[in-house]
Amino acid sequence: MPYRRCGKSGILLPAISLGLWQNFGETDIQAVFRKTLLTAFDRGITHFDLANNYGPPPGSAEENFGQILRTDFAGYRDELLISTKAGYTMWPGPYGDWGSRKYLMASLHQSLKRMSLDYVDIFYHHRPDPNTPLEETMAALRDIVHQGKACYVGLSNYPPDLAQKAAAILRAMGTPCLIHQPKYSMLVRTPEAGLLDVLQAEGIGAIAFSPLAQGLLTNKYLGGIPADSRASKEHFLKSEMITAELMEKIDRLNNLAVQRGQTLAQMAIAWLLKDERVSSVLVGARNSEQLVDSLKALDRLDFTTDELTLIDTILKQN
Ligand code: NDP
Repeated sequence: MPYRRCGKSGILLPAISLGLWQNFGETDIQAVFRKTLLTAFDRGITHFDLANNYGPPPGSAEENFGQILRTDFAGYRDELLISTKAGYTMWPGPYGDWGSRKYLMASLHQSLKRMSLDYVDIFYHHRPDPNTPLEETMAALRDIVHQGKACYVGLSNYPPDLAQKAAAILRAMGTPCLIHQPKYSMLVRTPEAGLLDVLQAEGIGAIAFSPLAQGLLTNKYLGGIPADSRASKEHFLKSEMITAELMEKIDRLNNLAVQRGQTLAQMAIAWLLKDERVSSVLVGARNSEQLVDSLKALDRLDFTTDELTLIDTILKQN
C-alpha cells in the first residue's frame, strides 16, 4: 500500500481508505463485513471512515465497527486512523442536527461510546450549517481536540469559499484543518472548480468520497440492475439514474479500462489518484472481493495524455 501525505501535516494516509457508510449496518451480514475489514487492514488500509449516522439504522456502523475493534483489532488501535463525523440528522429535536456546539459535542460523545474509544483520530463537521455562526462550529472542533477526544479536525461538503474561511478560523485558533472530504469521481467533478486549489493553498489534504459514484463507475449496470446492487435498493442510488445515455458513457469507459488491463472500478480509482492533491480515495465495498478488486487499481496508476483526453471526451458527450 502506498501512503500519501495528507496536506502539509504529519499524517500519511493509505492511497485507498475504506468507508463504512453502507454495507456495515445492522441489516448487513456480520461475517461479510468482518472479512472486508480484516482484508482491508491486512492489505495496508489503515484508515477507516465512519459517521454518527452510518448504518442503517444510524449509529449501527459505529456499533459494528466497535465490536471488531474490541475483538479482531484489539491491540492494533495505534496502527489505525479512525474518523467520524456529525452534521446530518441524528436524533429528534433541535440538538441532533447541523452544526451547533451542543450537537457536535453530544454526538462525538455518543460515537465514542458506540465504538468504545477514548478518542477518534479525525472528527469532521459533515456539512456546512447556514444558520450557525462558522466561529461556533469551528470553536467546537478546536475544543474537541483540546479535550483529547480527537487528534485532528476535518470538514466535509464545504464549498471552496466557506472551506477557506473555516480553514482561516481554525488556523487562527491553533487547530489547523487536516483534511477535507468532498464527493469526487469521474462523474462528479465539482472539486476541480476551486476546492482542490483552496485545499492545496491551505495545506489541507483531500479524501475523495464515492469514487465509484456508488457503483455506477463499474461494469455492474451494463446488463441491467443486479438484484444485490445498491441501485436495486432504490434508497441512496435510484434506478432512474441508470439511463441509456449514462450507460453508453460507462460502456465506452469500460472499453478503455479493459484496454488498459483494468476493470472500470480500478480505472476510476486510478483516475482520482493521478492528482497529487488527492491524498486518499475513500471507497465503499459490499464484500472483500470488491475491495480486493478495487485495490488492484494501484497496479496501474499512470495515464497517457491520449487516455485522459479520451476520458474527458467520453464524459462530455451528450
Ligand atoms: P463507492 O463510490 O466506492 O461505492 C461503493 C459501492 O460501489 C459498493 O457498495 C458496490 O456497490 C460498488 N463497488 C465497490 N467496489 C466495487 C468493485 N470493485 N467492483 C464493482 N462494484 C464495486 O463509495 P460509497 O458511495 O460507498 O462511499 C464511500 C465512502 O465515502 C463511504 O463509506 C463514506 O465513508 C464516505 N462518504 C462520505 C460522505 C460525506 O458526506 N462525507 C457521503 C457518502 C460517502 P454494490 O453494493 O451495488 O455492489
